[in-house]
Amino acid sequence: MATTIADNDRIVIVGGGIIGCLCAYYLRELGHRGAVTVLEPDPTYRFASTALSAASIRAQFATPVNVELSLFGIGFLRSVRELLHPETDIGLVENGYLILADEAAAAPRRQALAMQRSLGADIEEMDPAAVRARFPWLNVDDIAFATFGRTGEGWFDAWALLQSARRAALERNVTIKTDAAEAFETRGDRVTSVVCASHDRLEADWFINAAGALSGQVSAMLGTSIPIAPRKRTVFHFKAPVDAAGMPMLFDRSGAWMRPEGDGFIGGIQPHIDDDFDAHDDFEPHHELFHETLWPLLAQRVPALEELRLLSAWAGHYEMNLFDHNGIVGPSTDLPNFFYATGFSGHGVMHSPGVARGVAERLRFGAYRSIDLTPLSVGRIERNEPLPESAIY
Ligand SMILES: Cc1cc2nc3c(=O)[nH]c(=O)nc-3n(C[C@H](O)[C@H](O)[C@H](O)COP(=O)(O)OP(=O)(O)OC[C@H]3O[C@@H](n4cnc5c(N)ncnc54)[C@H](O)[C@@H]3O)c2cc1C
Repeated sequence: MATTIADNDRIVIVGGGIIGCLCAYYLRELGHRGAVTVLEPDPTYRFASTALSAASIRAQFATPVNVELSLFGIGFLRSVRELLHPETDIGLVENGYLILADEAAAAPRRQALAMQRSLGADIEEMDPAAVRARFPWLNVDDIAFATFGRTGEGWFDAWALLQSARRAALERNVTIKTDAAEAFETRGDRVTSVVCASHDRLEADWFINAAGALSGQVSAMLGTSIPIAPRKRTVFHFKAPVDAAGMPMLFDRSGAWMRPEGDGFIGGIQPHIDDDFDAHDDFEPHHELFHETLWPLLAQRVPALEELRLLSAWAGHYEMNLFDHNGIVGPSTDLPNFFYATGFSGHGVMHSPGVARGVAERLRFGAYRSIDLTPLSVGRIERNEPLPESAIY
């Protein structure tokens, strides 16, 4: 079958979060003229990961393709008004990530740093004295090494980005249908149509699975299995007597993180592996995690946080790739007109522009042009060749 789309081919994108909306946007930007329909059951995005994320961007990854996607992402975010809409305001703050390490982690981190810099990331290595001088509120007693993103790292408003991407897609004659995929029909190795919750049946030539934490479920409708599961992550919002001016996103060596948000801070940490199971419909914040784990760790790192006041908490789902914590992008092996754009395991908002552009390029031109996303293809899972991302939080 054809590996590129004809101009009038119909495309259905399952999932209208940031990945789905930007795939639609880039298909139009690259000149696709056929019908593009995004299926999104919930226009309020109440449970969408994009709306519940910490909306931060970093170039400090251990896998080269992730660094490239972040560099593409920051370029997109900086130019979002020209690219999506002149009224877009995503409030991008480039205060950097400060990632702390002990001696044991220093060697692999230095190796990753060299790779990040070779790809153009603006990351500085700091010794404990330099960290103390620049961030005097930080306890660096047990720190051997730190890296800091001078530019190209920070945070933004993911809700505003999503709304703007959705608007940009609609303005480019994309249909966003309030409906859910419930089943697919196939003929030979082609997916031919999707059957919706409304019982509507949409025929199409190409399909993209951008259903986020539920993309494993969507693939299962086709009898194919991808190792993506919804894993709950809680974000805590608190106030504390710490001067947030110029404060970066802080990643402690324990895995605890925090950054300024509004007139306070947000922070979080992965749950213990025994508490990290498939979340299904569970969006209840993991409250014990704050008192038992996060607060003690953060207060050890930032002593002024002993006086912290918890304001609120929310939980969302990572679309966790249980195989290697990296995205799955590109065509399915068995059904080549069914594409994946999922599995980003906590870094999907920052990587959405590069991933969406890549998916649109792969469809339009039959090959990636901006960033080679073949390392993220599903084939690695079938061959049991993980592309592990160690820098996950
Ligand atoms: C607490 C938390 C913090 C995070 N922090 C960051 C961060 O700092 N930086 C970062 O880059 N990433 C972060 N992430 C990850 C990021 O939010 C996701 O990787 C990203 O939002 C994925 O985008 P998406 O469009 O695939 O998913 P979503 O935004 O979840 O969109 C998927 C959509 O698919 C729809 N859908 C589901 N099933 C169907 C179906 N059957 N038919 C049709 N539609 C369907 C859903 O309704 C949903 O709207 C965080 C995530 C969480 C939970």
